[in-house]
Amino acid sequence: MNCCAEGQQASKPILVKNPDEILIMQEANQIVAEVLCMVQEAVEPGISTYELDQMAEELCRKRKSEPAFKGYHGFPSSLCTSINEEVVHGIPSRKRKLKKGDILSVDFGVRYKGFFGDSALTIPVGKVNHATHQLMLATSKSLELAIEKVVAGNRIADISKAVQEYVEDKGYSIVRQFVGHGIGSSLHEGPEIPNYVQGGQSPRLIEGMVIAIEPMVNLGTHKVKVLRDGWTVITADKKPSAHFEHSVAVTADGPLVLSSRDKILGIE
Ligand code: MG
Ligand code: MG
Repeated sequence: MNCCAEGQQASKPILVKNPDEILIMQEANQIVAEVLCMVQEAVEPGISTYELDQMAEELCRKRKSEPAFKGYHGFPSSLCTSINEEVVHGIPSRKRKLKKGDILSVDFGVRYKGFFGDSALTIPVGKVNHATHQLMLATSKSLELAIEKVVAGNRIADISKAVQEYVEDKGYSIVRQFVGHGIGSSLHEGPEIPNYVQGGQSPRLIEGMVIAIEPMVNLGTHKVKVLRDGWTVITADKKPSAHFEHSVAVTADGPLVLSSRDKILGIE
């Protein structure tokens, strides 16, 4: 889940974590990774976003963690499920069944041993059209490039620039109203991680910081609006949007992707 730009976390302190805390955060994020992999496997035409939400919550609780989004400012579910033109914060529903050619952005977070994990990805439902497929690839790649900048001494703006340059060069647009965030014993901590370069000097990365980087990239306009449910964010032109997110620690050895799905670290 992400924050409104210039939200409250802008003024929140940037909290540095010690190695033991980062280890717990890795465990939390590996639960998130495991759940997202399971959801990815379960996605097929005909399944409802409600069913995915139920599966996610069940596995989360089995791993002795709590779904972080459920009840967060009143959000009703464990997963955010955002389809096609929905950017983020879509609410799972029994009535909303996936169709071939849809893309589904799934955002998930847990609270585990007092710390939070947060990650997201966009999943194709069967074969999707070429333009939408390219949008997904570019968004995922922009996150990869951003992660390479998570090095002590760099600034947040280096991350923002990496995303913005790659994405805009391909003719896509970046959602500005929502941003990434610091993460730790709160879901949203300072600093904000915008996916575009803002004016002024941004904070420097120091060892022990953990940040959730989450580019939200639109095929058409960058403009978005919130539906009457108070949550679901959609693109103003109804063109598709993709969203990828990882929680990443700044370490002496460079970026450590806590929510990596490459090889799930079992914590049973
Ligand atoms: Mg998230
Ligand atoms: Mg987030």
